[in-house]
Amino acid sequence: MEIRVMENIFDENDRTADELRAKFREKNVFVINLLGSPGSGKTSLLEKTLGALSKKFSVAVIEGDLFTARDAERIDRLGVPVVQINTAGGCHLDAPMIKRALDSIDLDALDVLIIENVGNLVCPASFDLGETIRAVVLSITEGDDKPLKYPIIFKDAAIVLLNKIDLLEHTNFDLNSARSDLQSINPTVEIIETSCTKDSGLENWNGWLENKILSGSEKV
Ligand code: MG
Ligand code: ZN
Repeated sequence: MEIRVMENIFDENDRTADELRAKFREKNVFVINLLGSPGSGKTSLLEKTLGALSKKFSVAVIEGDLFTARDAERIDRLGVPVVQINTAGGCHLDAPMIKRALDSIDLDALDVLIIENVGNLVCPASFDLGETIRAVVLSITEGDDKPLKYPIIFKDAAIVLLNKIDLLEHTNFDLNSARSDLQSINPTVEIIETSCTKDSGLENWNGWLENKILSGSEKV
């Protein structure tokens, strides 16, 4: 019984995600599903990214959080349009939540939509949001064993940001083994080392993202 219920949930989610993907394509909006553990640095990275990105593109953000609007307030301070989704304890965003959030976003005026998912390496991986790409933030302090322990979230990522790289010397994180594990799960994944406190690797990430947006938004 429980299995049947889960299948129905995924089917409904996938139908809505396909609908969203078609709409994003029609409106030429590039959508990033930003994933990672709580405390991996998703919002800090987003703040740094928006600074560069919003000079070139019209950008909006959807913030997924269990209870607070703290991250949305941080984005709002940058003058970027932001919609908060509170999942009230739910540990992931799903496509119907994104569909409702779009009521408050003008897709015609938009180039890029960034969705910061609920901090969690497990079930957000199973919920397609109609995104163009997935980006996963994995911070050095989480440990290099995470790719093999949570392969599903890394499998479909276009890019993994190894964040808080400035803390490397204070940990036993093995960069080579993290990189080779990621490549074994996902041979085409891009991997960039970043630090938001030291401002390192951010130009690489922003440049990579800009290229993706420009090539992804070319009309077919
Ligand atoms: Mg956050
Ligand atoms: Zn969940």
